[in-house]
Amino acid sequence: MREIILVKYGEMALKGQNRSSFEDVLLRNIRYRLKKLGKFSYSKAQSTIYVMPEADTDEACDELLAEAMPRLKKVFGIAALARALSCEKSFADISARAIPYLADALNAAKTFKVEAKRADKTFPMKSPQICADLGGILLENYPHLSVDVNHPDVTVTVEIRDLNAYVHAARERGAGGLPVGTAGNAMLLLSGGIDSPVAAYMMAKRGLRITACHFASPPYTSERALLKVEQLCEKLTPWCGSMAFYCVPFTEIQEQLQRNCPEEYFTILMRRLMMEIACRLAEREDCGAIITGESLGQVASQTLPALQCTDAVATMPVLRPLVGMDKTEIVEISRKIDTFDISIQPYEDCCTVFTPRHPKLRPRLEDVAAAQALVDFAPMVEAAVAGAEKKVFAQHISENQML
Ligand code: ATP
Ligand code: MG
Repeated sequence: MREIILVKYGEMALKGQNRSSFEDVLLRNIRYRLKKLGKFSYSKAQSTIYVMPEADTDEACDELLAEAMPRLKKVFGIAALARALSCEKSFADISARAIPYLADALNAAKTFKVEAKRADKTFPMKSPQICADLGGILLENYPHLSVDVNHPDVTVTVEIRDLNAYVHAARERGAGGLPVGTAGNAMLLLSGGIDSPVAAYMMAKRGLRITACHFASPPYTSERALLKVEQLCEKLTPWCGSMAFYCVPFTEIQEQLQRNCPEEYFTILMRRLMMEIACRLAEREDCGAIITGESLGQVASQTLPALQCTDAVATMPVLRPLVGMDKTEIVEISRKIDTFDISIQPYEDCCTVFTPRHPKLRPRLEDVAAAQALVDFAPMVEAAVAGAEKKVFAQHISENQML
């Protein structure tokens, strides 16, 4: 038996001239994703990438396929994927081998239909005939089944392609979106909370390669709080690919803020200073945008006037993919991407340590700027940028740790 995975692209197939570079990036991401799993060979044709396990026995191939599927389901740019039986391009071979291959799927179903896609128009049978003939043979071999063309439990698909024919039962949904890297780079402000990892996932889905930065204020924030953020990075790599991560020393800035600036502006000033530093790191990393996990009205620093004050210091677009989402919707995604349990660990964040008792809900930009001007933060910003420590979280390494 020779079984492979058919990977179908979705949206990217629409991207006209960019298509071949999108395909190349997707293929590269897939290769990288499966690199540590075992040997695979790859080819692409007709909006499909063929992922073929290279192992000596059927059992070993089966194992590779079983492990590849869940990984591939997290690769953005894939609309659907299916394990498929590779057959010779003859109806005799297709039908003979489809019968045992489809046993599990058909035994569990009551109704089915056959669909045929004939990319190779020289194949002697037309699609309706393939469907009718294979349908008849499957009915003979699985007499409990009946045909339902509208709502079948199982759709058996036969694809006649250039070199081979492929037979598969259900297609599974892929992660959708665009391949990571096709939309450029962006710098994520990653706190230890629930929201910012979800923001990373959402923007990686739109094709951005993510670099993260986290502001730490030891000794007010602990080593374990930082570790938690690093764990979040690791959890994100199956979706985002390898991620660079900056840990920015923020203690001095926060102490100066606390000592010299009005308390009601602490949070908003902290946001502005974070934004300034993040933009500097973003320029260094060739990023075209900043990403945050802010959601409109969630807390005092996320009102429109507060966002305006933060954006006033940004030197590039600030993307806030959660801006219109409720917490319950955000939590749902964080559970799906498996960051929730890490996010709710109760380690202090620099924001919580320095939270003002009565933050300004509608800060005016002039007042905020005046409050900030009480201290010359420029050298501290320089020092923070210079002192930021970079680490890279490679996808396949974290993957191995997770196994
Ligand atoms: P999260 O949004 O991740 O759940 P949170 O809800 O506590 O954390 P806020 O403290 O309101 O969020 O922060 C809003 C956004 O600011 C975060 O989503 C994140 O993008 C950024 N941010 C906050 N604290 C930090 C930090 N210590 N390092 C980096 N970014 C931060
Ligand atoms: Mg938040």
